[in-house]
Amino acid sequence: MKFAEMTSPELAEVKRDQTIVVIPIAAVEQHGPHLPTATDTIICTAIAEKLEGRMSEEILLVPTLWLGASAHHLLLGATVDCRLKNYIELLQDIARSFLQNGHQRVLFLNGHGGNIDPLKVALRQLQLEFPEALLAGGSYWSGVSDLLHETLDGDHKFVGHACEFETSMILHLRPELVRQDLIADAGELFPDEIDGFFISRDMMQRTRQGCTGRPDLATAEKGKVMMERIGNSLESTIKKLLRQKLGLLYEDFF
Ligand SMILES: [Zn+2]
Repeated sequence: MKFAEMTSPELAEVKRDQTIVVIPIAAVEQHGPHLPTATDTIICTAIAEKLEGRMSEEILLVPTLWLGASAHHLLLGATVDCRLKNYIELLQDIARSFLQNGHQRVLFLNGHGGNIDPLKVALRQLQLEFPEALLAGGSYWSGVSDLLHETLDGDHKFVGHACEFETSMILHLRPELVRQDLIADAGELFPDEIDGFFISRDMMQRTRQGCTGRPDLATAEKGKVMMERIGNSLESTIKKLLRQKLGLLYEDFF
């Protein structure tokens, strides 16, 4: 079910306990010289819509939130940022709209690295208000590390930024938006941690051109394969989330 295409009487009929509200959250930020700023929004939306297509009875899909937490891209320009405190509240306002309306299971489906930290804070705070609801969040790549190892040829076996993965996905989904003549090996990614300790650095400090890994190894075929298998992984996750018991006490979950 697509929330934005339904009417209020239809939405009133949606079974609150047997449905999960899926809120895709992405970003619009610089993606180097060869990919469009809306890359995360395009990929996350395509994955969410594919998932809804497979599980339309169980999912209530909300329109993708294009505004993300992207402060670490601002120095490179071509970026729209929502400051962390506003972003946390924005996520909560969206989820609260459904929780106050009787929905009991909410999943934020994330497509942008910068959103991960505020997403967890938003869910922690929201749980104080709705302690019996299922409040979940994660990135669409969370359960597919094997797939990334198998499919990606470069040594970055993860979802980076305007990388082999993202470039393959846009080559599959919107090839006309890829500036093929500007694709190049992104060179070394300067780290943002030492011995597991996080160091806050802007992407301008970590990358030569705002992208990472080996976008020059990207192909539309890889994008197609990864799209399909990410769909399989998320379908399994949604089923598990729908089977989770709801409750307040430890005993309620057994
Ligand atoms: Zn991003």
